[in-house]
Amino acid sequence: MKPSPVPEDRLLVLLYHNVGPSPGRRGLGAQWTAPKVLRAEIRWLRQSGHTFVDERWVKDWMAAAGEPQPLPPFLAEGGETSLRPTLLTFDDGQANLYTQALPVLEQENVPSLVFMVAGRIGGFTDWEDRPGWRGNSLLTWEQMREMQQRGVTFGSHTLSHRRLTDLPEEQWRRELAESKQALEEGLGRPVETLAYPYGDFSPEIGQTALEMGYRLCFSTLPGLNTSTTDRSALRRMNVRRPGGLWAFRRKVARMVRTE
Ligand SMILES: [Zn+2]
Repeated sequence: MKPSPVPEDRLLVLLYHNVGPSPGRRGLGAQWTAPKVLRAEIRWLRQSGHTFVDERWVKDWMAAAGEPQPLPPFLAEGGETSLRPTLLTFDDGQANLYTQALPVLEQENVPSLVFMVAGRIGGFTDWEDRPGWRGNSLLTWEQMREMQQRGVTFGSHTLSHRRLTDLPEEQWRRELAESKQALEEGLGRPVETLAYPYGDFSPEIGQTALEMGYRLCFSTLPGLNTSTTDRSALRRMNVRRPGGLWAFRRKVARMVRTE
């Protein structure tokens, strides 16, 4: 089967959660991606002509809105002339990203963006009752700082993973502002990306996030992004499990066809 390429000027953003062997039936809903599946998906995308980009590249691409951008230097070798920009994101910041995802990402030389629940760092997932989602270890500051040295950037997934549109304005403002501040202090660098918990936001929340200094805000609306897509409502393809490489390939191909 010939892989379907993403049009050059469209950005594909993938959303993953946990990486590791699935903890069995209890974890089926918890979006576990086996490391070997993650590796196979990365390799398939690359063989299909996708170029993995980082947060910095996406910010520059959107700031330049429509002007051609150079290939990222970390992948410019190899004579590639087409860019099917693809950004890997991981929500929630569970500890398995350090133990299971990082070795794969590093070996495959793929940058990634991880969205942290800033009020729960070093703790446990406590925002879901579904089996497989509750009580999982989250990354520590020490792990995050090491990952930062090894090609990972971090964004905010708010303070407590509440549904923002359920909260009064004062509270959702705090979730946006204080998570940004805590991450910047803990990591020693600007934090300019946000992923809304459950993909839940309103136009007012999105606009406020941009005013607070977030430059890229990710939803779970499906589809690809252009450089002029609303930066408060960026689209992502949710990589759902169970479902291996074949399901993934079908989903990418379908998304590209419907754009
Ligand atoms: Zn989440």
